Amino acid sequence: MNPRTSELPKLAAYTTLRLGGPARRFVSAATSEDLVDAVREADAAGEPVLLLGGGSNLVVGDAGFDGTLVEVATTGYRRDGGIVDVEAGQNWDAFVAGLVEAGLGGLECLSGIPGSVGATPIQNVGAYGCEVAESIVSVELYDRETREVRTLAAADLGFAYRTSVLKGTDSGVVLSVRFEVREDGLSAPIRYAELARTLGVEIGARVPAAEAREAVLKLRRGKGMVLDPADHDTWSAGSFFTNPIVPSAEAEAVLKRITEVVGAEVPQYPADGGVKLSAAWLIERAGFAKGYPGPGNRVSLSTKHTLALTNRGDATTADLLALAREVRDGVHERFGVRLHPEPLLINCVI
Ligand SMILES: Cc1cc2nc3c(=O)[nH]c(=O)nc-3n(C[C@H](O)[C@H](O)[C@H](O)COP(=O)(O)OP(=O)(O)OC[C@H]3O[C@@H](n4cnc5c(N)ncnc54)[C@H](O)[C@@H]3O)c2cc1C
Repeated sequence: MNPRTSELPKLAAYTTLRLGGPARRFVSAATSEDLVDAVREADAAGEPVLLLGGGSNLVVGDAGFDGTLVEVATTGYRRDGGIVDVEAGQNWDAFVAGLVEAGLGGLECLSGIPGSVGATPIQNVGAYGCEVAESIVSVELYDRETREVRTLAAADLGFAYRTSVLKGTDSGVVLSVRFEVREDGLSAPIRYAELARTLGVEIGARVPAAEAREAVLKLRRGKGMVLDPADHDTWSAGSFFTNPIVPSAEAEAVLKRITEVVGAEVPQYPADGGVKLSAAWLIERAGFAKGYPGPGNRVSLSTKHTLALTNRGDATTADLLALAREVRDGVHERFGVRLHPEPLLINCVI
């Protein structure tokens, strides 16, 4: 079957921010073969390609995308014991829900995250003390440079906090992802203090996966982090900024400055090569409270979570980026810490 090709609506129709101008061409691929063909054809024609899963980590400029938008619309997964192979376009949370229902554990702390399975390795999706890197065995991808399908083991994917070798390069098309899950029906060890409190357990405990999923969904809903079309606080790309990692060599001076400015201890967490700070904490202490408005009140920080930049209904990408710049520059001026955006910015910059 050939991929469906049609003239296009704006990218705003495909992103959770509901922002972004038109693409030149739109192709929806429902099988891996169609997906590879669509990308191969566009490459042969010298046409830029934008891969689209659930559009929940994309900020697209108002001018849109001058190339082919390829929607990854493959679905389904196969399980053999604790090994599960999942098609890239499969909705992530429906997959996690299916595992939990089948009594399989390991991914429940990542419940409620929007988007597709194929996008999860790109930025090593994580939440509540878990990351997909812990459960991914390998990724099958179409390499646009060699034009071959190959399998990359987790060890070769360069997973780190909210990144992998696939992030920021469009050379690989994820076709499927292999996960290893727990067959004892228990969750991964609970590592996140707020989640442990909600579950009434100690850090490190394991609980029935279904209980962990319910607790995570409850916490996420309270922060506007579960998609709800009726709730503008969820018209976002999730966390707009990553938590900054201050290199060890600079950490002492940076922490001293923040403590002096704020007059309080700075929450900090050990991280590879330095100290991880909380972007939300810094944003709030720099004077940007929940609900802080951007241009014309068309965008604002979420009223439930400082880290989410949201579209209040009739925003443009330019509005969103103006707010992002104000927050980033405000934090830098006050604390000397530079925040970096987590979503992929397409045809726009902050
Ligand atoms: C309300 C909300 C809450 C969120 N919470 C979290 C969270 O807790 N933790 C977290 O880590 N993220 C979170 N996110 C961000 C986002 O959901 C994840 O990054 C998700 O994995 C993106 O999936 P997607 O299919 O929507 O990707 P898209 O936005 O469609 O694409 C993201 C990037 O991946 C590329 N891509 C997509 N599919 C493929 C593929 N098959 N092969 C190669 N490249 C591909 C795209 O080209 C793009 O560059 C949240 C977002 C929202 C809106």
